[in-house]
Amino acid sequence: MMAGNNQTQIIDDVKSALKETLPNLDPELSMDERGILVIRGECGSWEEAVTAGHLAAKPPGVRNVVNDLSVRGKPAPRKDYGPYREMGIKAGRVDSADVLIIGTGISGCAIARELSKYRLRVLAVDKEDDVASGATKANNGNIHPGHDIKPGTLKAKLNLRGNELYTQWARELGFELQRCGLMGAITDIRLRPLLEKAAEGARAMGVFNPQVLDGERAKQMEPGFVEQGIEPAAAIWLPSMGLVEPYKVAIALAENAAMNGVRFLFNCTVADILTKDGRVTGALTSRGIIDTSYIINCAGVYADEISAMAGDRCYTIHPRKGTIAILDKNRRPVYHSLAGVISESAQKKGNTESKGGGMCRTPEWNILMGPSATEVPDKEDLSSTPEDLVYAMSLGENYGIGNGDIIRFFTGNRPADYKEDFFIELSPVTRGFINVGGIQSPGLAAAPAIAEMVEGIFAEAAAKDGFPLERNPGFSPIREREKEFRHLSREKQDELILREPAYGRVICRCESVTEGEILAALRSPIPPASVDAVKRRTRAGMGRCQGGFCQCRVVELLARELGIDPAAVTLRGNGTNILVADNRPEACGGEAV
Ligand SMILES: Cc1cc2nc3c(=O)[nH]c(=O)nc-3n(C[C@H](O)[C@H](O)[C@H](O)COP(=O)(O)OP(=O)(O)OC[C@H]3O[C@@H](n4cnc5c(N)ncnc54)[C@H](O)[C@@H]3O)c2cc1C
Repeated sequence: MMAGNNQTQIIDDVKSALKETLPNLDPELSMDERGILVIRGECGSWEEAVTAGHLAAKPPGVRNVVNDLSVRGKPAPRKDYGPYREMGIKAGRVDSADVLIIGTGISGCAIARELSKYRLRVLAVDKEDDVASGATKANNGNIHPGHDIKPGTLKAKLNLRGNELYTQWARELGFELQRCGLMGAITDIRLRPLLEKAAEGARAMGVFNPQVLDGERAKQMEPGFVEQGIEPAAAIWLPSMGLVEPYKVAIALAENAAMNGVRFLFNCTVADILTKDGRVTGALTSRGIIDTSYIINCAGVYADEISAMAGDRCYTIHPRKGTIAILDKNRRPVYHSLAGVISESAQKKGNTESKGGGMCRTPEWNILMGPSATEVPDKEDLSSTPEDLVYAMSLGENYGIGNGDIIRFFTGNRPADYKEDFFIELSPVTRGFINVGGIQSPGLAAAPAIAEMVEGIFAEAAAKDGFPLERNPGFSPIREREKEFRHLSREKQDELILREPAYGRVICRCESVTEGEILAALRSPIPPASVDAVKRRTRAGMGRCQGGFCQCRVVELLARELGIDPAAVTLRGNGTNILVADNRPEACGGEAV
């Protein structure tokens, strides 16, 4: 808690910083004892609003910023929860849980799995039709070493710990983790002191084993330099850099959590948080009222709105859009690790608050270009603009990569707050409510540590509340994973086909995905309900033709297995139906429509 004169001093400092940078702005400022600074008024553009938010967050005494600046004549688009509230009230009381997790991205799934170690009734809900439907499906999949994050931040601490825990996660949960390492080379030996300094800094932060390599060693370890005709003079080497397919990690966590008793509910939008005497009692959702004693808010770009629903308005999320281009696999990655050449004049392109922004690869060896970093007022703005794409592709301009190599591009929104740090805490305002907000990059890398931290916060709160916590005697951390058919030996493939002929029918030719694998996904603990959800589990549709040939087969399989009409099958949930109707004459009483 902060003394009143301290608050006045901080407000005065923020006012003068604003005056200096944005002289036309005259906002109202207020600050509570907890250090939450509220900034109100009108400004001329979204860029101004974001700059003001960042300036307001600068003083160390500011815990976080609620930015209520509106752009003159251009109100920011807001989600209308009204229709969902009406649906929920109509449905009445439908469910109850000890803990309700809102959002099933990497944060929600990791926490769900962590809490499944206890004998608890945990329910995880999401407004979309599957896990990993927000930022978690739209990122680079980098498990960052943690060397380039501001020391002393929660992000830095949880990134380091999360990176370390990924090895255990991958072993227990059976997803692919490639510790490819990160290499930054110099071609001018006079720059070596820069590398030494960077390695020393990383070491001081606790990054795993940073090293400076001489040129020969760098070439041996990274054949890409030879392929590129680059003669490294020395290089920094961070061996803990890892690569994953982020949605597969979330699916693995959710499946393991489900096996240990956690329930998942999709197409369920939380529209209000119910409280009594300052304590959480439930949530009003589009599916009805869910009674609960604890809520863990992992709602990504909407986390600030969920917190406000709980009566604790303590941060604002300003979405930062990132566009990534995926290249065809025949464009082999130029580097095997994540590597590049550092020069003295190298200027970091793009937004300085965002990580990433280069060329990297996926564990399946597709090159990813990007992401860009653009502040946008609309949380639903997932447009990939020509400017974003040009920026993403410019990162590979020295490698002969062109637009013809792109097989797909996509955009995700980073859920950034104005402190540009993770905001994880038990609400001091609403008992039983835990915020997991501001989870921008490195949220994927930090996820195991985020889950660990939230488990600690929850256990402490439960102990204080006298809520009994016992270990789940049936908990198993292991999720068995079948190896992909295309990665099996001929003998194993034949064996499988004999046992289950569906493995002999290839559905996706680009990625060699069989019907057997799609059926196995459809019978898994968190079964996919849409074409994109099948894609995230099996890679059907992720190849060069992007589903041009296999999408109709996947629709058929979904319809058959779910027992629904093919026209009811969606690309990614509500309102994204692929087919309109069966217009064959025999289906229309002899008349084609
Ligand atoms: C372009 C880009 C590249 C990135 N690259 C990396 C990287 O390489 N490495 C890294 O570590 N991090 C990276 N990140 C960051 C990383 O993706 C995020 O930190 C992480 O995915 C956040 O996960 P989350 O679960 O907190 O949020 P999300 O994945 O956004 O999940 C939030 C969920 O909440 C649900 N939800 C929202 N509102 C409601 C509601 N009212 N009711 C019910 N459900 C709701 C949403 O549907 C969503 O599924 C990147 C991000 C972007 C955008």
